[in-house]
Amino acid sequence: MATKRNFPLTTPGLAYEKNSLYFEGISLEKLAQTHPTPFYVYGQSTLMANFQEFLGEAQMAGLQNPLVCFALKSNPNKELLKLLANEGSGADIVSGGELKRALEAGIPGERIVFSGVGKIEPEIELALLKGVYSFNVESIEELELINTVAKRLNKTARICFRLNPIVKAKTHKFIATGNKTHKFGLIQGDIKKAIKTPKFWTHSKLVGLSVHIGSQLMDLKATGKAVKILGELGRSLPETPEFLDVGGGLGVAYSPDEIKKRPEISTYMQLVARGLEESFYAHYKQRPKTRVVFEPGRRIVANAGVFVMKVLRQKVSDDQRFTIVDGGMNDMMRPAVYGAHHEIVPVKKPASSKKVDTHVVGPICESTDCFAQRQLPPFKSGDLVVLSDAGAYGYSMGSNYNLRGRPLELLVEGDKGIRVVNKAQPYEDLL
Ligand code: PLP
Repeated sequence: MATKRNFPLTTPGLAYEKNSLYFEGISLEKLAQTHPTPFYVYGQSTLMANFQEFLGEAQMAGLQNPLVCFALKSNPNKELLKLLANEGSGADIVSGGELKRALEAGIPGERIVFSGVGKIEPEIELALLKGVYSFNVESIEELELINTVAKRLNKTARICFRLNPIVKAKTHKFIATGNKTHKFGLIQGDIKKAIKTPKFWTHSKLVGLSVHIGSQLMDLKATGKAVKILGELGRSLPETPEFLDVGGGLGVAYSPDEIKKRPEISTYMQLVARGLEESFYAHYKQRPKTRVVFEPGRRIVANAGVFVMKVLRQKVSDDQRFTIVDGGMNDMMRPAVYGAHHEIVPVKKPASSKKVDTHVVGPICESTDCFAQRQLPPFKSGDLVVLSDAGAYGYSMGSNYNLRGRPLELLVEGDKGIRVVNKAQPYEDLL
């Protein structure tokens, strides 16, 4: 049994056993002997626990008939999606590719919401044919196009307006989405005008409203505001909406000191329940059957995955030390794009507590290809290191930049052990 957590670990599946790091009971040293680094490993047990907690807390908070639509952009691995589908998860998608992937994984159209500002005609057509739960519409021209495509196919499109509530979410500016300077959603005035324009509704029906103000939210003030604005707009609609979709965005702890700051799922659910009660449900004589939809990604999958890399070599330039690893920003972009922090944990626990200041860098020809500059043990060639909490926006944001391959994705399936769940283009096959 892997037990002790005496190196700062934020990923719950990680633990040292006899000074060697295990992930959900699997030795990472052994795993790296049989699988080429770098690779992602996901843990079924953490993934399932996160999903069940999310859904369970929504129910506990009294939220009506909740539908949790996992945001595929955070991690579209088909085997992970199958597991979520079996738990009753829906999907939040932003492209035809994600639509196909969700369907292949067994998520039915009636549990799929389709967000995104740039939907194109073939995607809209496919979504109509597959009967998606809603098009989360982000512009008037999009609404018009969906209605036109629905008319051609003799279908009725289920429309949800994504509201831009004009709030300031406290997060990295690249992942805030709920203000008018952002391309996302429609402001209230435009939604009200569109509802009153009959030509948009010949083959479309308004069924809901959604809001999503940003990602990695640790402070829920703006979320509370947005939920209330959503509820107020919801009760002003000509017909009671079938659902109100409060989006995703709940933050995770990427470092030990963030663990205390991270909002509990129960706190978040109570905030949503209270906000919708006050702004929406309480205003009807007879309580409407309006259900609540969620679009979480990161909170479900971030800490269910790690990225394992091997140290290639060290380089010391004057007073600067570089630890060069075999994973790069093409495999895991978050540090390069957002300056995001991930814990870097040695697989073999160092015998001494000595640390050195080092830049942990990948092989990509960009200076931003740097996972961290911090005090770490003095690694040497061949050492394995783990980038923690890498399950969300890791593989999914990856690319073949510098004509590198793509890392393997592995899944720990409890007692069944380990399985390769994606071998798209391993580095070794390119050489
Ligand atoms: N919904 C929408 C519309 C999004 O754009 C995103 C992420 O950007 C999400 C949900 C998922 O957000 P998170 O992974 O932070 O929960």
